[in-house]
Amino acid sequence: MSLQRTLPGDILVVDDNSDSRTWARVRLQQAGYVVREARNAKQAFAEIARQLPDLILLDVLLPDLDGFEITRRLRRDSALASIPIILLTVLDDRDSKIRGLEAGASDFLTKPPDHAELLARVETLLNLRRNQSELLREKTKIELLYRISRELSRELNLETLLSRILELTIPTLGASRGSLILLDKQGGILRHIFARQERGATVTDEVRGKIIQNGLAGWVIQHQAGEIIADVRADPRWMVAPGPSAPTGSAIAAPLIHQDRCTGVLTLIHEETDRFTPADLDLLYSIGSQAAVALVNAQLFWTIEQEHSRMEAILVGTADAIIATNEAQRITLLNPAAEQVFGVTLDQVEGRSLEEALPSEPLIAAFRRAEATSRPTPPTELTLPDGPTLFFTVSPVAAGPKGERGWVAVLQDITHLKELERMKNAFVSTVSHDLRSPLVTIHGYAELLSKMVDEEGKKFTQTILTTAKEMSDLVQDLLDLGKIEAGMGTDREPCRVEELVLKALKAFELQARSKEIHLATKITPVAHPVEGNPVQLRQVVDNLLSNALKYTPSGGSIIVRVWEGGGQVRVEVEDSGVGIPRKALPQIFDKFYRVPRPETRDVPGTGLGLAIVKAIVEQHGGEVWVKSELGQGSTFGFSLFPSAES
Ligand code: ADP
Repeated sequence: MSLQRTLPGDILVVDDNSDSRTWARVRLQQAGYVVREARNAKQAFAEIARQLPDLILLDVLLPDLDGFEITRRLRRDSALASIPIILLTVLDDRDSKIRGLEAGASDFLTKPPDHAELLARVETLLNLRRNQSELLREKTKIELLYRISRELSRELNLETLLSRILELTIPTLGASRGSLILLDKQGGILRHIFARQERGATVTDEVRGKIIQNGLAGWVIQHQAGEIIADVRADPRWMVAPGPSAPTGSAIAAPLIHQDRCTGVLTLIHEETDRFTPADLDLLYSIGSQAAVALVNAQLFWTIEQEHSRMEAILVGTADAIIATNEAQRITLLNPAAEQVFGVTLDQVEGRSLEEALPSEPLIAAFRRAEATSRPTPPTELTLPDGPTLFFTVSPVAAGPKGERGWVAVLQDITHLKELERMKNAFVSTVSHDLRSPLVTIHGYAELLSKMVDEEGKKFTQTILTTAKEMSDLVQDLLDLGKIEAGMGTDREPCRVEELVLKALKAFELQARSKEIHLATKITPVAHPVEGNPVQLRQVVDNLLSNALKYTPSGGSIIVRVWEGGGQVRVEVEDSGVGIPRKALPQIFDKFYRVPRPETRDVPGTGLGLAIVKAIVEQHGGEVWVKSELGQGSTFGFSLFPSAES
C-alpha cells in the first residue's frame, strides 16, 4: 500500500537490555520507522498512554512484568487490543510460543533476531493492521451511511428533511456549521438553508446568485464534483456574506446528484483551516447521493400532496354533485354538493353499494350501463322526490396506482332550466291553442272565397289555403308536443309494433307511388308486444315515414325494418334520400331544427316532427337514433321495451 511510505509506523521497543534496544532501534530507524524505547513494563505502559504505537516489539523477560502478562493486559483494553505485538524471546521453545499466543501476541522472533526477518515481520504486521483499520473505517462509513439513508428516507416533509440532512452531516464530518442549497430544474435556487449559522448573517439574493455563479457552490455545480478548500482566506471561491459571520477556516462541499443532474450542494465549514480530508469528501459525496434521493422523494410527495389538495379543493368547491364508485361498485366519494343533494354524508355511505346508499333508479341504471359498456353514458335527467332536477352522466375512470377502474357521476342541477322550459312550453301551448280557431276560420273563408273568384283570384286563395295549412300543421305539432311534454297520453296498452308499422305503410303507399319511391319492409316476427300508447306510437312511425318520403327524391327507396334485439323491439326507417351532414346530427332531434341545405329549402316542414318522435319514444322508456351519410340516405330508428305482462 502506498500509505506505508507516507505514514511510517511508530514502533515501541520494550527491552531491559540496552544493547538489544539500540540494535532494534537503529535497524528500524534505518528502515524509516519512528522508534520509541521502554526499559520495563512500567515505562512501556507510560509510553503507550502518551501515544498509541502502531506496533510493539516486546521482550518476554522483563524485570517487573513478563511479556506474556503485558500482552494479556494490553489485549484486555479494547483501545489497545488491535496493536500488533511481536514477542522477542531467547527461548525458542514450543511452550513459550503457546503461552504467547494464548496471551494474544501477534508474532514471535527469537533473540537476537535476524535483521531481515525483523523488518519483514514488522512490515507484514503493520500492513495487516493498516488494512484492518481501512476495513474498519469502511465498515463505520457504510453503517453511518445506512443510518443516514434510513433516517432520511423516513422523512417526507421537505423542510424538516433539509434541516435533518444538515443535522446529521455536520457532526458526522466534525464540522462546525453548514448549508444546503436546493436547485430547481432551471438551475436556480429553490431553497437555501443553514445550520448553526451565526445569527444576524444575511445572505441576500444577490450574494446567493454570486455563490452559485462563482462561489464554491457554483464550482461544485459546474464540475458536478466535490471540493475541499483548506484555507478559505486563500481561495477566491469562498464568499463571505455581509454582516457578522463566525470564523471560517476551511470548507468542504459536495453535489447532490440525482439521475446525472446536480439537484443541490451540501457545504460544511470548520472554523480552523485544513480540517477536511479526501476521505471526508468521499463520505460527504456519499451522503449527498443519499440526500438527493430522499429530497427527490420528498419533492415528489409534496407535488402529489399539492395535486391532491388541488383536486380536493375542486371537488369541494364545485357546484356539481360528484359521486364515485370503485371497481367493486362501492361508493368511494361524495363531494359536499352531492351530500347536500342526496341528504347523506360521505361517512354514512362510503364503502356501501349504490342500491343501499342512494337508491335512485336512473342513477343506478346509468352506473350499470357505464360499467357494462365502459363508455360514458348519454346525459340523463333525474328528478329527486321533492328535490332538484339533475342532469347527469356516468363515466368510467382509471384511478389508483395499478390503473384500477372506477366510475364517476357528475350531476348538474338544472331545476331552474326545467322551470324556464316549463314556462316557455306553457306559453307556446297557450298561443298555439289560441291560434287554432282563427286558422280554421281563415281556412274556411278562403275555401268559400275560392269558389267565388276568377282564375287569377283562385291563385291568391290557394296561397292563403297553403299558408293556413302550414300554420295549422305547426300549431298542431306544437300542441302535440305540449301535450306529450305535459305528460298527457300516458295511458298504455300492449301494442304490436309490426302491425302498427304495416298500417302506417299502407297509409303512405299512395304518396310513395306518386313520388315513384319504392317502399319495402323487413319484419322479423316479434315475440312480445310493447307497452305503449298506440296513437302516439303510430305518430312516431308516421313522422319517420313522412320525413323519409319528404327527403328522398323520386326514384329512391325506403325500407322499414322491425326486429327484436337486446331485449327490446327495434324499428328503423332507412331511405336513400338526401342524407344529413355529420355536424347536424347532434341537433337533429331538437325542436325547430331544420338542416340548412339548399336541396331541402323548399320542402315544407315545422322542424318539430323529430322532436315529437323523441319525446314520445323517451316517454315510453325507449331510445331514438340516427345514422346518415350526406347524399347517401338516412336511417332513423327507435327501440321500445316489451310490455311487462308478456
Ligand atoms: P321537418 O318538419 O322540418 O321535417 P323534423 O323535425 O321532422 O322537421 O326534421 C328536422 C330536420 O331533419 C328536417 O328539416 C330535415 O332537415 C332533417 N331530416 C329529417 N328526416 C330526414 C331524412 N329522412 N332525410 C334527410 N333529412 C331529414
